[in-house]
Amino acid sequence: MTSLLRILSSLFALLRSLRSMLSWRTSAGDPRAGELCDRAAAARAAGRADEARSLFEGALRAHPADGQAALIHYELGRLETERGRSAAALAHFKSAWHADRGFVPAAVALGDAQEDAGDLRGAVRTWERAAEAEPALALLGRLERVYRNGDRPRRMIALYRSACERAPDNLAVAVGLGRVYFELEMLDEAAEQFEKIEVRAPDMPIVHAFLGATFERRGETREAFEEYRRALRLARGFDWPHACVACGASGMAWEDRCPRCLRLNTLRPVPPA
Ligand SMILES: [Zn+2]
Repeated sequence: MTSLLRILSSLFALLRSLRSMLSWRTSAGDPRAGELCDRAAAARAAGRADEARSLFEGALRAHPADGQAALIHYELGRLETERGRSAAALAHFKSAWHADRGFVPAAVALGDAQEDAGDLRGAVRTWERAAEAEPALALLGRLERVYRNGDRPRRMIALYRSACERAPDNLAVAVGLGRVYFELEMLDEAAEQFEKIEVRAPDMPIVHAFLGATFERRGETREAFEEYRRALRLARGFDWPHACVACGASGMAWEDRCPRCLRLNTLRPVPPA
């Protein structure tokens, strides 16, 4: 009996180590796939899209790891989009998303492709599932637009509230909730939300701009002006965007030297669009 147990337990140990070996192989992938990806990226950077595509396709056939397969499918989706083959692009974005559910660019691109193909419900489903895993602003913004167009303000609020609960440290999402409250004229909720954010990030110009606008709508003119003044001061509101006349680089403020081409005295104020 004990010998049978011993045999069984060593059999289980063997199975465990075999399984971990297998999972190691699938998670690491074949090194040739990585090499083909590097060559594909170089070809794409050099403007040789067809060569890049066939190298990425070769990388897929070389059994890449799941995370790498997601990247390759995403790149192939982009390349197919560029040459106008939207159905092939959509299939690649879908494979990218299935290979790695945490890969936000794939979820964004898949939803965009579904929407372009007239499948708005599919797009919303993709973005909602992705936003549940990772409340990225790109996903939330797309869902917000769909809910707004569909006249569903409660969904807009619920979207940002649940994202705030899942990512309590994400202040960008917290600002998104305040912005939606403000847009829906829920001024007390907006003021409370922005005041909560202000405690954690006192120097964010956008927070003071929204507080100013909220106070102004509530008729609290003096408080509103005070917040506007703080917003302008923090945003360096007296600066004007500048661009380099030599290389075209644009920055937010005047500098003596262009940060890109390093020429001196080439930054000029950008004319209004
Ligand atoms: Zn320049």
